[in-house]
Amino acid sequence: MSLKGKTAVVTGGSRGIGKAISMKLAKQGANIVVLDMVISDETIDEIKKLKVKAIGIETNVTDEVSVNEAIKKVLETFETIDIVVNNAGITKDNLLLRMKKEDWDAVINVNLTGAFNVLKAVNKPMFKQRSGKIINIASVVGLMGNVGQANYAASKAGLIGMTKTLAREFATRNIQVNAVAPGFINTEMTKKLSAEVVDYFIKNIPLGTFGEAEDVANAVAFLAGPDSNYITGQVVNVDGGMVM
Ligand code: NAP
Repeated sequence: MSLKGKTAVVTGGSRGIGKAISMKLAKQGANIVVLDMVISDETIDEIKKLKVKAIGIETNVTDEVSVNEAIKKVLETFETIDIVVNNAGITKDNLLLRMKKEDWDAVINVNLTGAFNVLKAVNKPMFKQRSGKIINIASVVGLMGNVGQANYAASKAGLIGMTKTLAREFATRNIQVNAVAPGFINTEMTKKLSAEVVDYFIKNIPLGTFGEAEDVANAVAFLAGPDSNYITGQVVNVDGGMVM
């Protein structure tokens, strides 16, 4: 229970990797705030069963006003914000030739500007606390690129750049900022991939299989806890060895 009494904010925490992260942090004793477009009452109830406090706040991370209101509500409910996980993310894949400007904008807005909005909102309260952990969920695609994902790769590479910059900016306030870069993980997002694409990628994963949301959550829990206090500005790949 290394996170007992801490407050963790998880964006996109209702389902997929975000839900696994919320559950894992709750198992470690953290109270959980899920920020999501649609709050799953089922997820909130499952978290509460782990004997921690849990609330969901409907939030669109692309909307600064919505994010600021949500963070205000978190601070009214809990005394501190100790852990922030920027997990909300979308894909809108296409070759650049066919990629619409609106699909470029949508992906950058959720994956990169969304994290910016959340970090702007928590910046002052976390600085006042002089402690905290920020974990940005990037992707190996942000490191290696991927055909049909110019928008997604750019957003995740941007998130990695922001992680390293804020690790430097926040270090004097005892706030560690790291990224986790999942490879291919079994969620709704990867269910969209064709059988050929899945086969191709599995051949290129040394451990020979897609990962599970819990594999990502385990890395996040390490970076959210005291065992990682001397680690900042890093990208931890959870990818079965795809990128090394
Ligand atoms: P997912 O199952 O599609 O879940 C994404 C979550 O983000 C959903 O709860 C979604 O809400 C929420 N979201 C989307 N737009 C939002 C917005 N504007 N404001 C607030 N919440 C929003 O995806 P996942 O596979 O769990 O992915 C989670 C993160 O891991 C993403 O950042 C993704 O890029 C990253 N990742 C995933 C993989 C993978 O293989 N799955 C690999 C590398 C990185 P709704 O339910 O309302 O849509």
